[in-house]
Amino acid sequence: MSAMTMTEKILARASGKGSVAPGENVWANVDVLMTHDVCGPGTFGVFKKEFGPDAKVWDKEKLVLIPDHYIFTQDAMANRNVDVLRQFAKEQDIKYFYDVGTEKYKGVCHIALPEEGHTRPGEVLLGTDSHTCTAGAFGEFATGIGNTDAGFVLGTGKLWLKVPPTMRFVFHGNLPPYLMAKDLILAVIGDIGVDGATYRAMEFDGDGVYALNIEERMTLCNMAIEAGGKNGIIAADQVTLDYVNKRNAGSKPYNVVKTDPGAKFVFEKVYDVTKMEPVIAKPHSPDNKATVTQVKGTKLDRAYIGSCTGGKLTDFRAAAELLNGKSVKIDTFVVPATTEVARGLDSEKIGGKSLRDIFLASGAKIGEASCAACLGGPSDTFGRLNAPISCISTTNRNFPGRMGHKEAQVFLASPLTVAASALAGTIADCRDLV
Ligand code: SF4
Repeated sequence: MSAMTMTEKILARASGKGSVAPGENVWANVDVLMTHDVCGPGTFGVFKKEFGPDAKVWDKEKLVLIPDHYIFTQDAMANRNVDVLRQFAKEQDIKYFYDVGTEKYKGVCHIALPEEGHTRPGEVLLGTDSHTCTAGAFGEFATGIGNTDAGFVLGTGKLWLKVPPTMRFVFHGNLPPYLMAKDLILAVIGDIGVDGATYRAMEFDGDGVYALNIEERMTLCNMAIEAGGKNGIIAADQVTLDYVNKRNAGSKPYNVVKTDPGAKFVFEKVYDVTKMEPVIAKPHSPDNKATVTQVKGTKLDRAYIGSCTGGKLTDFRAAAELLNGKSVKIDTFVVPATTEVARGLDSEKIGGKSLRDIFLASGAKIGEASCAACLGGPSDTFGRLNAPISCISTTNRNFPGRMGHKEAQVFLASPLTVAASALAGTIADCRDLV
């Protein structure tokens, strides 16, 4: 049997084959399917049309429903979408439904999935959201799919997938205190472009990756899709297993999968993290790379710290370190990805002060756990760019209109760079503060 990458091994196992090769099509059995308030209604519509109005989902324990996108809004259509999730969850008796307004409410799906124990090494996780690739940080094959495919999965538990070839990105060295995973992935996307990994697996490896905590690894995999990647993936190590074993929903058995020595890659690109610099993606594309040094001093109107990419506790800890005892010069919005992260804003302390108190004392506003303005949303969405202003953000996309107004300018950066810039009112270099 020829040597395989992690992605190939997972898809071989999921399709009941001894081995698979890039380009091969397989019927993969799905371990978890996730959908949310934006795509859930469309997915259920496809499912009912194709499998009948009274059809039951293939496995109700493998479906996870997470309202997270357009949640805290008066918009009637957005509210209706959540109602459709409620109705479907009730009708199908879905256990893993994290409904808003209940104690189970979580917030952003890609952070909620691991927190609630739905991510496990070696599995196939599909979701009706392009950033489903985030879960590759747990050593699994995770990718976003459309409503039609998801409707088919609901009925059959399978999907016809093409095995992607793998590109390997190796990071060496200890991350300097002024860099975060966001800088690494923005550098990669800037180097290969937004189509540089189209329908390929992006495998992240090297001591620089394994030195990162699990949340930072999630940031790396989260933005694989910004390079067009089919999936991002990092082999599970003890850090991964410690996290997964504490949370594993249903205590399901799983298999850790590693890339075989001699496995073939499209290419391997090696980075020395000690030589890298804070990076920014300028408007209007995640691959419009500049070093902070090149754009330092650019005037800003707003700072935004949140989303599945930049709204985890690690992100807020980093930002709070810089904001502690200081005042922001521009409107600054803080949005925890999940309710668990929101609780962390109270329990995590720096010098005896909670992160929440540090943010509020700095003049930042804190919103409720959700996607909030990452995807713009209805006009009453917290932090939405309702005017053609300039914003620096820890989110993952900056295409025109992504955070609201079509003429708004969005700069993507790490939480450290966003916090430093919030204090300056212009793009600032966090190395001056760290
Ligand atoms: S936080 Fe942003 S990128 Fe993440 S799932 Fe929500 S809208 Fe998508």
